[in-house]
Amino acid sequence: MKIVKVEPIPVAYPEPNDFNAERYLCLVKITTDDGLVGWGESITQFKEANFAVAALINGLSEFVIGRSPLENQSIWTAIKERYWWYGYRGGLAAYALSAIDIALWDLKGKALNTSLLNLLGGPVHEKLPAIASGHAHDSSIAAMAEQAQGWMSSGVQGMKVGFGKRGNANLGFDHDRDVEYVKKMREAIGPDKKLMIDLGYAVKWDVATAVKRVQAFDDYNIDWIEEPLGAWDPEGYKTLRDKTKTLIAYGEREWNVAGYEAILATGTCDVFGIDPGRVEGVTGFTKVVSRIESARRQANAHAWSSAIVSAASIAVSFSSLAFKLFEFKPLPNPMQNDLVLTPLTHSDGWVYPPTDKPGLGIEINEDVVNKYRQK
Ligand SMILES: [Mg+2]
Repeated sequence: MKIVKVEPIPVAYPEPNDFNAERYLCLVKITTDDGLVGWGESITQFKEANFAVAALINGLSEFVIGRSPLENQSIWTAIKERYWWYGYRGGLAAYALSAIDIALWDLKGKALNTSLLNLLGGPVHEKLPAIASGHAHDSSIAAMAEQAQGWMSSGVQGMKVGFGKRGNANLGFDHDRDVEYVKKMREAIGPDKKLMIDLGYAVKWDVATAVKRVQAFDDYNIDWIEEPLGAWDPEGYKTLRDKTKTLIAYGEREWNVAGYEAILATGTCDVFGIDPGRVEGVTGFTKVVSRIESARRQANAHAWSSAIVSAASIAVSFSSLAFKLFEFKPLPNPMQNDLVLTPLTHSDGWVYPPTDKPGLGIEINEDVVNKYRQK
């Protein structure tokens, strides 16, 4: 079996979970000479990055075409060896490799007629709690509390909410409003559900603000605070960790093992966000996870794009004890609910190990791919 075609497909789509903003992903479709197809994705997010990654995938396809998908680790290494100069410490090259690598794992599973999770060695969890992972949009805290109760009615075991996002919620910018929001959400969902707050890029807390805000949130027993000081601030995170109780989550902007090693060395991160569509694919993801598991820290899949990254993320999440839950977007959206014939979901708030279908275990609707193909 030989790979005969590598096709990057940049897509643009409206995301209801992000106030219908247009978001961008670069998918890749890899085909073998006997007609098997594997799908990968990189979470490029912006339109100019999408076209650049598509060009990189086209260029790197010379390391993929003519090879067998069973040689996926070898192909991963060959591509890393190629981009040593322009991909040092990550960047767009890591996106290109991420998409290719995910598609190769999908193909390898299909070629061997077994699931990605089985290829990774099988599940170590019987089931994982599902939570809703959304953004706050509404100007009214009461309306957002009602919405949160609606999300909980699906059975999910908690929620993570983004502050500083599009829409009218205006959260992350005013102490009293933020604390009132957390208080009201805790009341609305009850004491037993998980509640996490995730600071968006628009929020720029200094260290003192972060300490004051998180100390106030501590009264409402939040499960973690995500990126309160952005992607990299070792001294600030140390101060915050010394003065507050809640777990600190960050890491989702890192590209590879070296980036996660640097955060681990600071001793300031409790929950590491990791995105297979960014961190050099499933192969890179598992390398990072093994380090986090060894350090006895928590890992959490950043799977907030298409069902391709979600399927890869669920498989890796079930392969390591470092993962404690899985996030689903609360509102139906094109890249999760239309892209695949059977959308990924939870059952009464639990996710179960995906071992019954080959590869990623998803079937792509190519009409939907073509509908959102970026012009
Ligand atoms: Mg996040």
